[in-house]
Amino acid sequence: MSLIDKIFPDPLPSVEEIEKKYAPRALPEGAKVTRIAPSPTGFMHIGGIYSALISERIAHQSGGVFYLRIEDTDTKREVEGATDLISSSLGAYGLAPDEGVDVSGVEHGNYGPYSQSCRREIYQAYIKKLLEEGRAYPCFSTVEELERIRKGQEVRGERLGYYGSWALSRGLSAEEAEARIDAGIPYVIRYKSLGDYNHKITVNDTIKGKREFPDNDLDIVIMKSDRLPTYHFAHVVDDHLMGTTDVIRGDEWMPSLPLHIQLFREMGWKVPRYAHIAPIQKMDGNSKRKLSKRKDPEASVTFYDEEGYSHEAVVEYLLNLANSNFEDWRKQNPSADYHDFPFSLKKMNNSGALFDFTKLNSVSREVIGRMSADEVFERAHAWAKTYDVDLAARMESNRDYVRSIFNIEREGVRNVRKDISKWSDVKEEIRYFFDDQFSLNREAFESQLSDNLRKDWPEMVRLFAEGYNPEESKDEWFGRMLEIAAGLGYARNGKEYKAAPENFRGDISDVVKVFRVLITGKTQSPDLYSIMRVMGPERVLKRVNAFS
Ligand code: GLU
Repeated sequence: MSLIDKIFPDPLPSVEEIEKKYAPRALPEGAKVTRIAPSPTGFMHIGGIYSALISERIAHQSGGVFYLRIEDTDTKREVEGATDLISSSLGAYGLAPDEGVDVSGVEHGNYGPYSQSCRREIYQAYIKKLLEEGRAYPCFSTVEELERIRKGQEVRGERLGYYGSWALSRGLSAEEAEARIDAGIPYVIRYKSLGDYNHKITVNDTIKGKREFPDNDLDIVIMKSDRLPTYHFAHVVDDHLMGTTDVIRGDEWMPSLPLHIQLFREMGWKVPRYAHIAPIQKMDGNSKRKLSKRKDPEASVTFYDEEGYSHEAVVEYLLNLANSNFEDWRKQNPSADYHDFPFSLKKMNNSGALFDFTKLNSVSREVIGRMSADEVFERAHAWAKTYDVDLAARMESNRDYVRSIFNIEREGVRNVRKDISKWSDVKEEIRYFFDDQFSLNREAFESQLSDNLRKDWPEMVRLFAEGYNPEESKDEWFGRMLEIAAGLGYARNGKEYKAAPENFRGDISDVVKVFRVLITGKTQSPDLYSIMRVMGPERVLKRVNAFS
């Protein structure tokens, strides 16, 4: 039995058969094939959605294919249910892949299987071919031996790694290797690199531009002792067979590019275009760092669900991070579908976008501002059913009332209210509309007023109650507010007041404030007249009369 038969005693498909099965994709000129290739670690990082979104946009806006490949060759890291989390997160964010496992666990597409652990024989067939061609070899170096090599390199001030004369198993004869295999000594398979470290290669990254690297001369492991391939080798085989035209991935892989390009060339395959994305960063004190799974709750997609950020808002925010011209485009196309935005890899910042809640919330308020009252109701309710059951119950038993609260300054108005950035804000936004959740004592009331208002409010309240007509129009109501203001020495508008503050006790906004606080308990709220209409005269009078 030859060495290669000892390594692969069982029959494997031939590479010709495999190549035939994975025929090139018939796609129109310019169509791009991209993928998202996560490892199932049980944690879905928002950066994963970010790269998926970018890959999805690049594929679909070119009329191409976006697929999902599960990179599960590191069995030590694998976690039960992790693939479901990936598929369901992609689905929730509107990024369901064209091929790969879907939300219900079913695989689609003609280029599968799409989980690397199910492609073992395919990788082995190519590894066998490399062994036959003398371009790979079994390596028996133990952990201790690798450690000795490393120390030797340190002592001599040489570069670390398994290469050149340090690659001890490279020179082993077939007989010696066979004997070790017969003796049951564990081994890995290494690629025999012919690269010259002193030779520079230029790579052209779609995002980072032209970069120069020393060529790879490391004999990297391509098959581990568990007989599964390493990422380096597996992704080369898969991206070739699955027809990936553009590999879009995190820039931690950038240094491995010379190796990956070398492997593609070794196999005689077309090298895909590469685009390396800088990770999303955040400010930590005065310095920037990567969003961390350990330190930052917002690194996990579950955070956005729990807080009740709508998926569209997160997607729009990520588009803002990825292409800064998205913001202008959105201003010019306020009601367009984000899929119409011409996304560009070239416009991506190559040093990493900065995550910031203020911006996320503001994008999010805009997104919710575009929704109808019914949609806000349905979405908030769906969220509350999982994350705030009391709120859900309240919404259910007051459906019309809550819907009309959401419709204050919403449908048919020029300036839509933008006070909800996430569904968890809803509780506070509707709270004061319910008597059982509203209370205001004199101290709390007066603490929100100016000195003059603290003296004048009893008279204002008296006048208000005296003339209150629940049917009055907004203009009539405001006319009354102006009368009250004028009668008590308050200016009709801010401009008049500012021109001669000494002549006034305040202005109209102070007068309205008294009633805003009385009715809502707050100094800021949507349009007060609309609030009163929605609350109805009984509630309004009850609150006003409590202070008369
Ligand atoms: N499994 C790799 C990772 O999670 C994928 C990198 C790639 O997209 O090629 O980093």
